[in-house]
Amino acid sequence: MKAYRCYNCVGDNGTPGKDFEGDAPKCPACGVDAAGNPRLAGMIVALEVIHFDAPSPVRGVGVGFRACDPKKRLPDGDGMDKGTRFTGHPAAVTCPRCKASEAYLKATADDTSAE
Ligand SMILES: [Zn+2]
Ligand SMILES: [Zn+2]
Repeated sequence: MKAYRCYNCVGDNGTPGKDFEGDAPKCPACGVDAAGNPRLAGMIVALEVIHFDAPSPVRGVGVGFRACDPKKRLPDGDGMDKGTRFTGHPAAVTCPRCKASEAYLKATADDTSAE
């Protein structure tokens, strides 16, 4: 399974681009098939999986584990290491399992209450 974003669709939060997972760049929501029609290739982009580093009690520092798999330690610092990408910013997370995690839902709930 790979992660993709369809720019023919609008995301759950109203921003352009809806994320989905699949074996091919074909949007399950609108049916755009980038592999089947080259003219639509620009509508769907492949995403790198970016995991969520949930906030720790220390402000600005994450807990250092994937929200989708707490047994997997994340590398130090922000960015990329050995192909594992992660972020403390919920909006930048692309890993669907991280997005479904309790830590992520809590973080996004906190976000909306702060605005
Ligand atoms: Zn779509
Ligand atoms: Zn994840």
